[in-house]
Amino acid sequence: MALQTLADAFHDELRDILSAEKQLLKALPKMAKQAASADLQAAFEKHLEETKTQVERVEQAFEETGKVSRAKTCEAMEGLIQEAASMMEEEAAPEVMDAILIGCAQKVEHYEIATYGTLCAWAKRLGYSKALALLKQNMSEEVATDKSLTELSQAVNAEANA
Ligand code: FE
Ligand code: FE
Ligand code: FE
Repeated sequence: MALQTLADAFHDELRDILSAEKQLLKALPKMAKQAASADLQAAFEKHLEETKTQVERVEQAFEETGKVSRAKTCEAMEGLIQEAASMMEEEAAPEVMDAILIGCAQKVEHYEIATYGTLCAWAKRLGYSKALALLKQNMSEEVATDKSLTELSQAVNAEANA
């Protein structure tokens, strides 16, 4: 049995979020390019920079597990990104596309928040204090990003409904 302990599950889930974050390094520039609103574009670019640091933190969080830092394809993130890519191929008014992009991005942030929530709970239980601190930092950036997307959506949705 490969996953015999909570530590094994933690390691496996770290591999999943590492894959998810790496997938976002490729997806966020495409979403930024598609955004018509300069504010939305800037938000995606800012989060791309944060995501680069998040990848480094996840890699550091592997240390206490004593096992290799290697990504394992996150199929959920593949699905969320595929769905966003399909929507970006739709013919849409630019303002409406922006509203859609925010929706897609918030699904991604919520998935990340859920995963970091699990990882933080497990790190705490396992006594991995260094990993816990790193993962908490990532989680708070995801929460802040989700919040700023909600704020941005006020103006974007109004434009889309003008
Ligand atoms: Fe992230
Ligand atoms: Fe996943
Ligand atoms: Fe994120």
